[in-house]
Amino acid sequence: MEDDVFCKIIRGELPSTKIYEDDKVIVIKDANPIAKIHWLAIPKKHVLDIMEADDEMISYIFDVIRKVARENGLAEDGFRITTNIGENGGQAVKHLHFHILGGEKLPTRSQKKEH
Ligand SMILES: [Zn+2]
Repeated sequence: MEDDVFCKIIRGELPSTKIYEDDKVIVIKDANPIAKIHWLAIPKKHVLDIMEADDEMISYIFDVIRKVARENGLAEDGFRITTNIGENGGQAVKHLHFHILGGEKLPTRSQKKEH
């Protein structure tokens, strides 16, 4: 049994604001949003990142993301999906999750690192 924040949320040991839930995936509000809409799509089965996830899981999560995007008006104006992998990717929680960002015009180049 894993002890990361998302496994605890999935087990009901930590609170969250759920946007969507089925037997395989939850979509919750990010506790520290960086956009007007900032949700997290998380598989209930513990997997580290996309490198360890199988195609079926990835495909299923993307189906759910499309569904919640359509049902909540995100699809019309556009939105962003990101996932962080490992140290350089800035992965904070070691449980696969996709950030869903939208509800406003998102910055495109402002986070580009200067060399
Ligand atoms: Zn986990």
